[in-house]
Amino acid sequence: MTITLKEIKEKKKVRMSFFDDSIKELIKDCKFNEPVEIKCTFILKPDKVSLNIEISGVLSANCDRCLENFTRNINITEKRDIKFEEFGEEFNISEEVFQDILLSLPMKFLCSDDCKGLCPICGQNLNFGKCNCEIKNSQEKEI
Ligand SMILES: [Zn+2]
Ligand SMILES: [Zn+2]
Repeated sequence: MTITLKEIKEKKKVRMSFFDDSIKELIKDCKFNEPVEIKCTFILKPDKVSLNIEISGVLSANCDRCLENFTRNINITEKRDIKFEEFGEEFNISEEVFQDILLSLPMKFLCSDDCKGLCPICGQNLNFGKCNCEIKNSQEKEI
């Protein structure tokens, strides 16, 4: 979705609300299965455009620790001023939203803060239960 500077200059204030299905995969294995909802307001200032943006969607990613797929709600509100030069004749809202979401991503994706991860020996997902080698390991540590 794009908007032109001409339109904002004519209307002084433009409010838009839409679902963007052009934003899909952000980075590898981290994607939106449903269109992202975007609400934004562009307000004309003497030498810039003031942008208020609200982004919401459900992100699907793989846990960095246990590799299981999980979903998380994303809600971002952003407010910033964009100089006319930076705004250009035509402003790409989808691109802006893409960058905003990318910047808000955590360094690590965890299905939950206390994810137990995988057993380094047999690879079992320890969130679903203990494996035998883990018991053996902890016994060895105790000795
Ligand atoms: Zn996990
Ligand atoms: Zn194991």
